[in-house]
Amino acid sequence: MHETMVAKNLLDSISAEAAKQKARPIAALISCGTFNAVNDEVLLFAFDAIAKGTVCYGMKLRIEHKSIQGKCSGCGKKFDFDLTRSGCTHCSCDKFDLLPDPPLLLEEIEFEEDDE
Ligand SMILES: [Zn+2]
Repeated sequence: MHETMVAKNLLDSISAEAAKQKARPIAALISCGTFNAVNDEVLLFAFDAIAKGTVCYGMKLRIEHKSIQGKCSGCGKKFDFDLTRSGCTHCSCDKFDLLPDPPLLLEEIEFEEDDE
């Protein structure tokens, strides 16, 4: 299953970062595109399942979905592609290329503050 692989990759990256920082991760922000979007609930469930017994267990994941971007052939500007408009949001021209869907990215990890 796609989400399990994604969860495993995230767990590996976060664990590696946690080992470097010598801190316990408590939350992470993940972003991904629209078309290759993972199912949030399935991903969170998969992450929880494989994080059991690791330093990452119990941490909170937030998933942010980014919209697809288009690049207008008329004015050359980039814009957030919107299915309801299907054109450049700057000049309304309908000649544009869709840019590749943003990949799934681990944006940031929050670590537990060390009080000692
Ligand atoms: Zn335009």
